[in-house]
Amino acid sequence: SSVFANIVRAPEDAILGVTVAYNKDSSPDKLNLGVGAYRTEEGKPLVLKVVRRAEQMLVNDNSRVKEYLPIVGLADFNKLSAKLIFGADSPAIQENRVTTVQCLSGTGSLRVGAEFLARHYHQLTIYIPNPTWGNHTKIFGLAGLSVKAYRYYDPATRGLDFQGLLEDLGAAPSGSIVLLHACAHNPTGVDPTIEQWEQIRQLMRSKGLLPFFDSAYQGFASGNLDADAGSVRMFVADGGECLAAQSYAKNMGLYGERVGALSIVCKTADVASRVESQVKLVIRPMYSNPPIHGASIVATILKDRDMYNEWTVELKAMADRIISMRQQLFDSLSARGLLIHVINTFYFPVWF
Ligand code: PMP
Repeated sequence: SSVFANIVRAPEDAILGVTVAYNKDSSPDKLNLGVGAYRTEEGKPLVLKVVRRAEQMLVNDNSRVKEYLPIVGLADFNKLSAKLIFGADSPAIQENRVTTVQCLSGTGSLRVGAEFLARHYHQLTIYIPNPTWGNHTKIFGLAGLSVKAYRYYDPATRGLDFQGLLEDLGAAPSGSIVLLHACAHNPTGVDPTIEQWEQIRQLMRSKGLLPFFDSAYQGFASGNLDADAGSVRMFVADGGECLAAQSYAKNMGLYGERVGALSIVCKTADVASRVESQVKLVIRPMYSNPPIHGASIVATILKDRDMYNEWTVELKAMADRIISMRQQLFDSLSARGLLIHVINTFYFPVWF
């Protein structure tokens, strides 16, 4: 008999389980609102035109080889990713206070950041919003951090529980890590206003809480890349330290290419370079170095002004369509008197 005979079957992942159920359903009208992947009007996956163009250029370039990337990934990709989230004129970048490493999409970036903090940071408690993307609890818990929740969503107002959030972060032990969704909070779709972000920033800085931004949807919330990075930039502008995990899964439609970045903003260039040396020790025994293709696509697009502009137009079109689909769903549910039921069951049903 098998040496694994006693293995107990694990439950299906709650989100991916919806896809399993969807595939089994024979209804011609079915719609899968579970997994967070963009679909066209025809219900098909979308590869951006600018991504196809970048891939063509890469294929035609015979000087390209398949050598290993460094542990930290593609240098151009890292520089351009930092500029994308912190802003092209960010003083922190100019002062070399930011270390950026290419990781396996948003999930991998969060995990590498979590492993680094668990090994080297003095306060091992991380506060995550309630509710949040279900994987956060596991990523940070398995990395060895102690995971606590802060109040975020208020079902009564279907908005932000701002008072609860301030109370919980105000009561957190000094130095605690705080996971913040940079924009497009998953699963509620509720983001703080600029004024609220400013209050959160002041509270966190006064208590020495360490911000860890999860930026999985830059450009998807508003259609504008700079606006969606506003929260992150506010925290970097004050000169303080923070971490940011970026994903290109949604905003470039590169889901399966697993392309993302972890940035750690430090007080000085010297600290940043020592931090990077330790992040490399986290990565090396996990997967050695990241894959080359997706990062090359991103770097090709970000470093060419025309391609960058083309990307922002395609990105805006996706964001606009999402916003209008949500409005239409809201309107047709309201018209049928179904809204209260759906919101109570799933918070917001169409948020990735
Ligand atoms: N953070 C949040 C809030 C997400 O919703 C997701 C994807 N659904 C991710 C991170 C990570 O996605 P990926 O690893 O595919 O970049």
